Amino acid sequence: MPQADIVILGGGSGGYACALRAAELGKSVILIDADKLGGTCLHRGCIPTKALLHAAEVADSARESDEFGVKATFEGIDMPQVNKYRDGVVGRLYKGLQGLIKSRGVTLVEGYGKMVGPTTVEVNGEQYTGENLVLATGSYAKSLPGLEIDGRIMTSDQALTLDYVPERVIVLGGGVIGVEFASVWKSFGSDVTIVEALPHLVPNEDEACSKALERAYKKRGINLSLGVRFAGATQNESGVQVSLEDGTTIDADLLLVAVGRGPSTDGMGYDEQGVAMDRGWVLVDERLRTNLPGVFAVGDITPGLQLAHRGFQHGIFVAEEIAGEAPMPIPDINIPRVTYCEPEVASVGLTEVEAIEAHGADSITTYEYNLGGNGKSQILATAGFIKLVQLTDGPVIGIHMVGSRLGEQVGEAQLIVNWEAHPTDVASLIHAHPTQNEAMGEAHLALAGKPLHAHA
Ligand SMILES: Cc1cc2nc3c(=O)[nH]c(=O)nc-3n(C[C@H](O)[C@H](O)[C@H](O)COP(=O)(O)OP(=O)(O)OC[C@H]3O[C@@H](n4cnc5c(N)ncnc54)[C@H](O)[C@@H]3O)c2cc1C
Repeated sequence: MPQADIVILGGGSGGYACALRAAELGKSVILIDADKLGGTCLHRGCIPTKALLHAAEVADSARESDEFGVKATFEGIDMPQVNKYRDGVVGRLYKGLQGLIKSRGVTLVEGYGKMVGPTTVEVNGEQYTGENLVLATGSYAKSLPGLEIDGRIMTSDQALTLDYVPERVIVLGGGVIGVEFASVWKSFGSDVTIVEALPHLVPNEDEACSKALERAYKKRGINLSLGVRFAGATQNESGVQVSLEDGTTIDADLLLVAVGRGPSTDGMGYDEQGVAMDRGWVLVDERLRTNLPGVFAVGDITPGLQLAHRGFQHGIFVAEEIAGEAPMPIPDINIPRVTYCEPEVASVGLTEVEAIEAHGADSITTYEYNLGGNGKSQILATAGFIKLVQLTDGPVIGIHMVGSRLGEQVGEAQLIVNWEAHPTDVASLIHAHPTQNEAMGEAHLALAGKPLHAHA
């Protein structure tokens, strides 16, 4: 006999969002987590890193205050105080989340769970069976073959626990996590080198964004080693040395390994129960169903973008699907993406190259609005652009942005792409002056053939 309508294994973004929505829909829910409710995002991911990035922004503001006529001196980073501020943010959100889970009547079971039947999970010798089972066990920081995480060689998990600012850091991996940590450490005063085997930083973004970020990072004094593969690393009491395949060596105090995240599925009984998997990822259809009846999977354990808001959306989707609400799936490509470094990179929809691959070069029109014409960006002293990718005479199918604080603009960007708006639809709406949001309006005005603060 099932003990609940839904058993959820994993209480991160995907799992807890599913629990909250299912409870709202009147379902009984058992939510199992081996660690802290909130998962990677709240305790080791989005929230703590963004708190560090905010502290980094404050440091930059202090350092650059003269430029704005404000007399302030930057004396340095008090890392224990930064960590206290960060932990305060995480702690308040954690408490709030625990309260929410309790108030919605979700049963929280603490312990390591293993799938032992078609919809049954065993935790500490107890078995929990649901009418449906949702797998939401998330992801872990990967390393490279032969590169052991230990001591001065660390992943984001250990980097977040540092109580000092390293003098010299090597960041292995120029993806989202790597460039965010590089940004923080540079603002905190470290000498930073990013090593990326591919030719560009944030290689999944539109190349225009990657190149703009590279220019901005070089201007900030961040060293870039792009297009060269890592060969090995050694460490001793005084430092770490990284060697590259072109024979270069780089010395530093520590090495951050940010080469991606793998699915947390090992030893959890999925294989034994016959869940279809590919290299550890749990395979799902567009309705997030696994191959087993009544078993769903959400968040980072499914192949695709590893983002907390994708996890939330997956969780809500599955709860509604189980409740018979027939929700509408959102394809990964239309999920907004933000890299919260300085300057920020934000995007939704197809890159120019993807759009050309999908529709042919003759069917694609692009436009880049430079922030040079945007009053608020000038006030903030940031450079960058908003690039639109349009199906010629049709909807905008991709928006790509670089600039300080532009992550905040991804909200409107995702409405435009998801609602398949044409440039004229957006051009007829009013964007408040002087905001960076105005740049979104200006870009669409220009693409609609009536540029205002831009050359035709
Ligand atoms: C440094 C860093 C920064 C990030 N920044 C951002 C960001 O700014 N924006 C963004 O959108 N995303 C960000 N992410 C990604 C985001 O954190 C993940 O996409 C999100 O947490 C995935 O949610 P999830 O529910 O799939 O998995 P998780 O959050 O990993 O949760 C899985 C949960 O399952 C539990 N669990 C695992 N196995 C078991 C088991 N056998 N039994 C019981 N419990 C188990 C774990 O304890 C964990 O709580 C970041 C990630 C990192 C590492």
